[in-house]
Amino acid sequence: MATTQVKAFGTEAPEAALQQMNIERRNVTPKDVEIEILFCGVCHSDLHTARNDWGGTIYPAVPGHEIVGKVSSIGAEVSKFKVGDLVGVGCIVDSCKTCDSCKQDLEQYCLNGFTGTYNGKDKHSGKQTFGGYSEKVTVNEEFVLHIPKNLDLAAAAPLLCAGVTTWSPLKHWNVKEGSKVAVVGLGGLGHMAIKLAKGLGASVTLFSRTPDKIADAKELGADEVVISTDDSQMKSVAGKFDLIIDTVPYVHDINPYVATLNISGTLVLVGYLGPLEPFLNSVPMILGRKSVAGSVIGGIAETQEMLDFCGKHNIVSEIEMINMQDINASYERMLKSDVKYRFVIDMASLK
Ligand code: NAP
Ligand code: ZN
Repeated sequence: MATTQVKAFGTEAPEAALQQMNIERRNVTPKDVEIEILFCGVCHSDLHTARNDWGGTIYPAVPGHEIVGKVSSIGAEVSKFKVGDLVGVGCIVDSCKTCDSCKQDLEQYCLNGFTGTYNGKDKHSGKQTFGGYSEKVTVNEEFVLHIPKNLDLAAAAPLLCAGVTTWSPLKHWNVKEGSKVAVVGLGGLGHMAIKLAKGLGASVTLFSRTPDKIADAKELGADEVVISTDDSQMKSVAGKFDLIIDTVPYVHDINPYVATLNISGTLVLVGYLGPLEPFLNSVPMILGRKSVAGSVIGGIAETQEMLDFCGKHNIVSEIEMINMQDINASYERMLKSDVKYRFVIDMASLK
């Protein structure tokens, strides 16, 4: 199929630095939108993928799934977008559209496997997909989002993953005025969870290991910060929360957080993928009808709902703008939890 070469930034191996490379993008097919990428957020999943933390990374890999930009070309049958529109693309660029999950707007749980924005398999070319650390991307219009005009475009980029990943569990577990929500970890996902839960009217507590982040967390909207390494602070919130969103990327003991759930409360893991260690103790779960659950990103309709909510409530991410060439140093800072609170790449730097 007809393709165009575009500049990108990616990696050839788990231990290699990201560097400039050329990739092929398909030319628009009738239902496609071609987007000139203006900004791309840097998610911890980009780092996990670049370094093959989860296994299964195909190299070369081009990360980036918090994409915002301007429509530069459209296919003949595109009806949702026109050239010049400001749009976003998150973690999903395709799904089967026919399975039970897709029919319920749950493309993230597509029973035939959704196509990831990167490290997925493009149904058009049969080849691997490449993410937003690049000049342009071509996406079926059904997987492209409208960005509310009042939002700062660069600061809206992280909504496409960090935003919807925390929005989806807040909605699924029915967070509303008066709900008691806690968030574990103040990074990209964590700071969006605070803002969105506050926007929905919840009272919000942050669990963090980092006392230096207390003032920021309060400014972001947290009513309270609990330093998770301080046992007496942890005890002071025993039995308190209806919902805990745990964004920690690496294995950690979740038993101390389960103890802070209210009767029938739920701790939802969105950060760490893998076996828990130490084991999860079922006793407090059984005796308090508590749940430990998981959740992955959100569907396309839900992503648009979240973007519209953010437009209405003026919610965006707190960002630190970087040039594409700074990406390797930014990954190192992310590993030290030194991000305030999302890196966003100014894609003009790749030109
Ligand atoms: P991030 O910006 O690096 O933030 C993670 C935060 O977790 C850190 O700021 C830190 O907060 C805390 N933390 C880090 N390492 C820790 C450790 N070893 N023990 C305890 N706390 C730790 O990462 P992110 O972009 O928000 O992503 C978080 C995780 O979610 C990643 O694993 C990512 O792959 C995953 N993710 C999942 C989905 C999904 O759909 N489920 C979507 C996007 C991302 P404090 O300094 O406050 O302790
Ligand atoms: Zn992400």
